[in-house]
Amino acid sequence: MNTRGGKEKIYQAIPVSPGIAIGRVFPFRRKFERNAAPEDRSIAPAAAEAEIGRFKQALSDTCRELKALQEQVRTNLKSAEANIFDAHLLIVDDQTLINEVSKFIREKHKTADFAFHQVIEKYVAVLSGMSDEYLRERAVDIRDVAARIASHLTHEEVESLEQLHDRRIIVAADLNPSETVQLDRSKVLGFAIESGSATSHTAILARSMKLPALTGIPHELIEALASGDKAIIDGFSGKFIVNPERRTEETYRLKAEETGKLISDLQRGSLLTSETMDGFMVQLAANLETAEGLEELAQVGACGIGLFRTEYLFLNRHDLPTEEEQFEVYKKILVANDGRPVIIRTLDVGGDKFIAHIYRSPEENPFLGLRGIRLCLHECRDVFRTQLRALLRAGVFGNLKVMLPMISCVEEITETRTLVRELQAELAAKQLDFVPRLSLGAMIETPAAALQTDLLAPLVDFFSIGTNDLVQYTMAIDRGNERVAYLYQPAHPVILKLIRLCVESAKKNNIWVSVCGQMAADPRYTPLLVGLGVHELSMEPSSIGAVRRVIRGLSMHEAENLASKALSCDTSEEVIKLSLKLLRKAAPTVVELIDLS
Ligand code: PEP
Ligand code: MG
Repeated sequence: MNTRGGKEKIYQAIPVSPGIAIGRVFPFRRKFERNAAPEDRSIAPAAAEAEIGRFKQALSDTCRELKALQEQVRTNLKSAEANIFDAHLLIVDDQTLINEVSKFIREKHKTADFAFHQVIEKYVAVLSGMSDEYLRERAVDIRDVAARIASHLTHEEVESLEQLHDRRIIVAADLNPSETVQLDRSKVLGFAIESGSATSHTAILARSMKLPALTGIPHELIEALASGDKAIIDGFSGKFIVNPERRTEETYRLKAEETGKLISDLQRGSLLTSETMDGFMVQLAANLETAEGLEELAQVGACGIGLFRTEYLFLNRHDLPTEEEQFEVYKKILVANDGRPVIIRTLDVGGDKFIAHIYRSPEENPFLGLRGIRLCLHECRDVFRTQLRALLRAGVFGNLKVMLPMISCVEEITETRTLVRELQAELAAKQLDFVPRLSLGAMIETPAAALQTDLLAPLVDFFSIGTNDLVQYTMAIDRGNERVAYLYQPAHPVILKLIRLCVESAKKNNIWVSVCGQMAADPRYTPLLVGLGVHELSMEPSSIGAVRRVIRGLSMHEAENLASKALSCDTSEEVIKLSLKLLRKAAPTVVELIDLS
């Protein structure tokens, strides 16, 4: 596939974060994808010393590159991140490594690339098998540096996200959540990647960072795009346009303007209540991944935080956040919310958020493995205890609620409650302040949890339905796999039945129900969720305006009617049709925005 200077081409991808991006592309090819096992090539014995010289040159080039990067990161005031490079520099300078590679080249007469790869793989294998977490995590450093050295050895041009100097559209096979959260927003216009769906954590981050994004870009296209090619991302309709003609570009600039106006119109009214025309209040809260976006909450009129994903405190670092560090972050969020409810979710790693130094070893099916509460109660009890202690202490500074991810049985709640009591006793013995009664909620993200909400409800203070996972586990689709993204159907009657079940159990037990998955942010589903009796919707802050507008145009009577009809539909398509009909009446501006997609 040739894209260079060619004709305009339009591809249909999957829109996962709204907005329009127009600009030049930056192809990001992760180093290890390209530098996997080099060919086993022999050299003449007489060439050995020259080959060793080439290896040493690659080491000094890498050293120079690392120092420059370290300086760059440091000047951006990210000193903790800059320190990571110290560990990398030590590896480049490691005499044992240099000696071993030189010996391999001299004795086996192999190329420097091959010798280096063989030696490094041995190191990585040994470290990855260690029981000590700290040593295991060094394997990640070694791989990272090895990729840099290998790229200097092969002189292969390797793109790295650190090389972004001007504002670009990133194109890549994939971006994982830890890479995405580190993107410098001033240098990224948006991204178009091959893998992932609207509910992958990378897509969730794109929406929080307000970066237009697409997934499902054909692999050959990603391979064919060269740095500097021009492209357009339409994060509403999913179109990806390569080499756009001037006229197309103008059309999209206009579309960006029009949608921008509609969105800011929807955001006005942040002081208005989110109640239906007949007076039923539905709370609208914000989802946050980091403590950075706190100022935006008041601007959009969020009633508080409905989901704070704490795992981002644990990503992109080589150690665990301490109790003090966590305490400070939780306290900051609680204080900033000034008495408004703040729901903090305990560590939810696993699935697409893998942290090498937390896991003993990678899993074959990470989404079905030790994820969320399972990891916390089993392999990482100490990490869980530290987090709960920090939460119990921070709780005195505001209106804290804590929720547990990936619940699939009642013991996970009872065990956590026992642990909380133990920690409270410990804190009391140390005469530290803590919340005496922790408001604890269960996330309903698995069909098992939804089907036993009658048993769970008496044990908790609230439910929060994580529809991203509830849809994933009910429809049996990997949320990171774009090929089954068509089955991500939150409005499917089976999902609605599970939500209904949850609301009924909550009502019987006098507790409240929130929805904090992506479904809550999509105005097409708002009338359904309101009609099903959900009390709170939590979403990325930028979606609150549109959802509020829908709620204010609805009557509970109509919404309940819709929900009961939807429950007896056969397909998601039928449900959406019914919901859109009501939406047209309730919030024409919102429909205008959807239609522009
Ligand atoms: C969910 O599953 O809907 C949810 C909110 O949690 P996460 O997206 O972080 O898995
Ligand atoms: Mg989830």
